[in-house]
Parts: sequence; C-alpha cells; structure tokens
Amino acid sequence: MDHVPRDVAADVPADIPAEELAFNFRSARLCLAFVATVGERWRGEYERLRAPEDLTRWYREVGLLDEAITVTRPGLDSARTLREAIYRGAKALIAGRDLTAADEALINTAATAPPLTPVLHGGARRLTAPKSGAQAAALSTVARDAIDLFTGTHADRIRECASPECALLFVDTSRPGRRRWCSNEACGSKDRSAAYRRRRQAKVEHQVKQLAEDQA
Ligand SMILES: [Zn+2]
Repeated sequence: MDHVPRDVAADVPADIPAEELAFNFRSARLCLAFVATVGERWRGEYERLRAPEDLTRWYREVGLLDEAITVTRPGLDSARTLREAIYRGAKALIAGRDLTAADEALINTAATAPPLTPVLHGGARRLTAPKSGAQAAALSTVARDAIDLFTGTHADRIRECASPECALLFVDTSRPGRRRWCSNEACGSKDRSAAYRRRRQAKVEHQVKQLAEDQA
C-alpha cells in the first residue's frame, strides 16, 4: 500500500505547538531533510508542507534557493509523491532491501527535468531556478540528490535515529559508522538521561522491595 501522509491542512490539532510544525534540518542531507517535512512519522505523522507556500519556504530555509519560487497545488502534490518515494526508498535500503520499481520510477521521473543551475556569485556558489519550470527544477535537484545518495558510498550509511520519539533519517558520515542518533545534543543526551532515569527508578524500586522484605 502506498504510504501517503494524511493532509492535515484543515485539521491540525490545536494542541500541536508551532515549533513542531517548524522544519527540521538535522538530517544534514537535502533529500532526507525533504523526507523530514513529515513530522513525527513514528506516531501517526503530520504534514509540514500543508500549503504550496510551505514548500516555497522550505526551499529557502534548507538553503537550496535564495529566491522564492512559485509552487502550485499540483506542484505540491508532486513534491509529496516524490518525498514519500524517497522515504520508502531510504527505509528499504536501511532494511537491506532494494527500492521497488514503482519508487525508482517516481524518483527517476522527477530527476528527468533539468535541475536548478549552479552559478558563481561573488565567489560563492548559488543555485538559480529557470524562468519556467522552476518547481520541476527544484524537485529534480532533490530527486538527483536521492539518486546520488542511494547509489553512492553512503548508501549503506543511511540510518534512522534510535530515539523512539524521533526516528529521523540521517546519513552517518562518522568514521566508525556507528552513530545511533540524528544528533547527540538533540536525541543522544535525551536518550542517555532517559536510560539513567530508568536505572535510577529500578534501583529505588529494588531498595523499597528490600526494605519491605526486611521489615516483614
Ligand atoms: Zn533524533
């Protein structure tokens, strides 16, 4: 079954704080940061690209484009379709499986459009969008990044963050390749302090039990 996140544009629960809808760039890789525009996939997930303008904003915030490009509603639909194909593809590789032919086709199709063009500007590299076909160009750049990742030297270094509340996809570029968390600060330390609290709780329970037995 296709994995299509529900579009919660109309029914974002009121108790979701605004920061949960903010984009997350801890993946540190374009195509995986794109996957992270669905928040908290582990608990039913919600859509951070709720309107075409959200995708325009994402392109700028991820650092792909300085200029704001116009995204249409069908363009947003195409973007979500590509995103879910990249997500399923990454999960397949993590599980040691191949991508499905359907997902390969979705990514390949997006990549056939001419991508954003690199230009030199004051000694820095920038990407620019063509006058027409800007949406397709931006998606093509993301799709090509996925193809590069899935076939490159880091294909077996795609990881899912071990924090049960996070599950963000990232690339482990560390030399030993044993990174468990998307970020040590964000998830690693939280995980370690949770483990500490569990050990401490177990110790207290043991002591209480001991005391009860001694008094019996
Ligand atoms: Zn994490």
